[in-house]
Amino acid sequence: MKTIGLIGGMSWESTVTYYQQLNRLVKEQLGGLHSAKIVLYSVDFEEIETCQSAGDWDKSAAILADGARALERSGAELILICTNTMHKVYSQVQDAVNVPLLHIADATADALERANVSTVALLGTKYTMCQDFYKRKLVDRGIQVLIPGEADVERVNHVIFEELCLGVQKPQSKAEFLRIIGELAGQGAQGVILGCTEIGLLIGQEDTPLPVFDTTLIHARRAAELALEGEGKDS
Ligand code: GLU
Repeated sequence: MKTIGLIGGMSWESTVTYYQQLNRLVKEQLGGLHSAKIVLYSVDFEEIETCQSAGDWDKSAAILADGARALERSGAELILICTNTMHKVYSQVQDAVNVPLLHIADATADALERANVSTVALLGTKYTMCQDFYKRKLVDRGIQVLIPGEADVERVNHVIFEELCLGVQKPQSKAEFLRIIGELAGQGAQGVILGCTEIGLLIGQEDTPLPVFDTTLIHARRAAELALEGEGKDS
């Protein structure tokens, strides 16, 4: 089994999900007392968010690149950035190491293709929803991406940073997210990407008839599959 490196802490609320999910998937495949081999580099999210709001992406890239190097030195054989937004600096982080950095949007596009979804709603931070770095990955694969209107982009972004990243899940925010998802379905979305690693803490498949693509679960599954390539269940 390969060792998985996690650049986490963005926020730590969702890094917990990655940790649980990776261990569950390895246990499911190998059985017994098996668990995932994981090295975690957890950043101070306040520092990262300060870079994001100042537009200083190079500084945040340097912090994550340091993390990736530390993970490689500690034996990580593949690495995940445990947030959608920070894939904005994916190339700078990948350039810092020799091991593969698994892109969350590539794994998500694969899942959408498998499900034959060609028009999809995207919820995430304002950076992920409005900028090109993430959507481009999907559009290049022939997938049309729908995002909420301006006021709802702000609302979703606010809930992510002021509630979900702080471990707060409010019923009112859940209702608003479901209203927004319903509106995007009305515009033709055949599925919804939970394109922020904390949204799965608020919304799940049980809450909406629209197929849900939870990027945290998709990303973790891809990592587990690669880590376990060639591994079978103990007899
Ligand atoms: N975890 C969130 C994401 O997946 C937001 C935190 C961040 O800005 O990195 O985008």
